[in-house]
Amino acid sequence: MDGGDKNIWLIANWKSNKTIAEALDWVSKVGPKVPKRDDLKVVVCPTFSCLSEVKKAVQVGNFPIMVGSQDLSPFEVGAYTGEEAASLLKGLVLISILGHSERRQNFSESDEMVAKKVEQALQNGIIPLVCVQGPDTPVPDGCKLVAYEPVFAIGTGNPDIPENANNVAKVLKEKHGPPAGGLEVLYGGSVTSENIKNFINMPNLCGSLIGNASLDAEEFIKIVGECSKL
Ligand code: PEP
Repeated sequence: MDGGDKNIWLIANWKSNKTIAEALDWVSKVGPKVPKRDDLKVVVCPTFSCLSEVKKAVQVGNFPIMVGSQDLSPFEVGAYTGEEAASLLKGLVLISILGHSERRQNFSESDEMVAKKVEQALQNGIIPLVCVQGPDTPVPDGCKLVAYEPVFAIGTGNPDIPENANNVAKVLKEKHGPPAGGLEVLYGGSVTSENIKNFINMPNLCGSLIGNASLDAEEFIKIVGECSKL
């Protein structure tokens, strides 16, 4: 593999899609096809309404899949109607996608808000996966997993050029990499089974955040298959 030993993160972001029945169908199809390999980190991020059922199905099947959320509250538990506090989610999820451009655009989420969410995640042992839209998006302290997701590439079928994504990842690592351990940078934006290899072969990239292509079990299995060959 180019870039030496590294993890390959494949993170399915279902956005606001799938009933519980559809979610369970996906887990039953994808779960048995994910190889058990320490460096292959497959994560599914369903809607909040599906989280506990998906988590149960993954556990019962003993599938090597982690469960994540697509967001969490910037506040502790309390009078915050509609919010999901990190301390309530921590039994269900290992990871949380934070600062996605769809949240920034549709819910006016600011960099300050993202930083508060990261703090809540870290306090509760949840890995924050912070989405940055470019090399200048702030990466809050303590964050070791970042997804570079240029807005033009999200859901458009127009992915960034792998070499460019690699260069952005390099800049992010230089700017934000903690002295020990390093920063892991993923690419997200119109990734499919056809183009995933071009991204994960880049030395500064270690996986992908995948939206549309993750919804279809067969397509996601193909993506996992492409990465399993490396
Ligand atoms: C995303 O929403 O994080 C994403 C990368 O979407 P898509 O793969 O559909 O571009």
